[in-house]
Amino acid sequence: MNKQSMFHQLALIEEKVGGLYQEIGQLKEGMITLLEENKNLLIENQHLRERLQQRERELEKRPKPKAASGSSSRTKKEKTQPAVGEGYDNLARLYQEGFHICNVHYGSLRTDGDCLFCLSFLNKQG
Ligand SMILES: [Zn+2]
Repeated sequence: MNKQSMFHQLALIEEKVGGLYQEIGQLKEGMITLLEENKNLLIENQHLRERLQQRERELEKRPKPKAASGSSSRTKKEKTQPAVGEGYDNLARLYQEGFHICNVHYGSLRTDGDCLFCLSFLNKQG
């Protein structure tokens, strides 16, 4: 191998290493994006679980309609709809904690500050 071809080989390797270095950088960036996404999904998942448990507790609290067990007990019709104020508070809190409550992006993390869909939804409810 003469000097010139050795030099040529080195230049080729240098080029390859440079390309690999770039690829590593891109992979690192992709990895960071995935980690962030994963973290957001974990938060979102936890939040939705909490919401679900809360909803289940609310449903359990509500008395179930029983067959008449005595003539002394009067059966009043329970409202099947949750109190409007309560539902609104939950949604407002969810929004404050950084989540979308609009139909468009419901449950996902708000990454760009205020969402006009969410705000108009809140205004309509309030
Ligand atoms: Zn929204």
